[in-house]
Amino acid sequence: MVNLILFGPPGSGKGTQAAKLIERYGLVHISTGDLFRYEMGNNTPLGLEAKSYMEKGQLVPDSVTIGMLRNKVEAHPEANGFIFDGFPRTLPQAEALDALLAEKNTSVSGLIALQVEDEEIVKRILLRGQNSGRPDDNDESIIRKRIAVYKQETSPVFDYYAQNGHSHSIPGVGTIDQIFDRLCQIIDAI
Ligand code: ADP
Repeated sequence: MVNLILFGPPGSGKGTQAAKLIERYGLVHISTGDLFRYEMGNNTPLGLEAKSYMEKGQLVPDSVTIGMLRNKVEAHPEANGFIFDGFPRTLPQAEALDALLAEKNTSVSGLIALQVEDEEIVKRILLRGQNSGRPDDNDESIIRKRIAVYKQETSPVFDYYAQNGHSHSIPGVGTIDQIFDRLCQIIDAI
């Protein structure tokens, strides 16, 4: 099994690249942001809880996120591997992911971070907000809050996987295909 974590700040292009990677490598894509938006769209209790955090640019509590992720992984017993997009976003989430994969006799193969500067991220997300219908993409102060949360709570996850040599990073600027090629080079060497 190949289990990849696609890492990087909000708006760094994880979703775009994940869509291309699943085609090439035949992996199952799990985006916690997409899962929360699906629940919100259906007004489920989980969606309503997630909404209260997402609209402020905060993380949804670990207990909620980890439970949802586990259900999604367990819904795909046939998978050749997974691309985790937007997860893990905290150290407890990383530990929970490792424990879940260990139960299935597998592990994280690698984490790849897309590096993009703050001002470029703000520009990209505001542009995306014109069409995405995401309230968290339309307010610059919320976008900056998400970047701050990324630096404080999420970036330690990179160091966590770096301890056993599993963290990689590439420039997240250039054309979509250039970035995809950089990702494939790393994945093919894992
Ligand atoms: P982006 O990467 O552009 O911020 P996402 O769709 O990945 O967009 O996430 C949107 C929001 O969903 C986050 O700001 C956060 O509130 C919530 N979220 C997504 N994934 C997680 C997670 N793993 N843990 C906690 N909250 C999450």
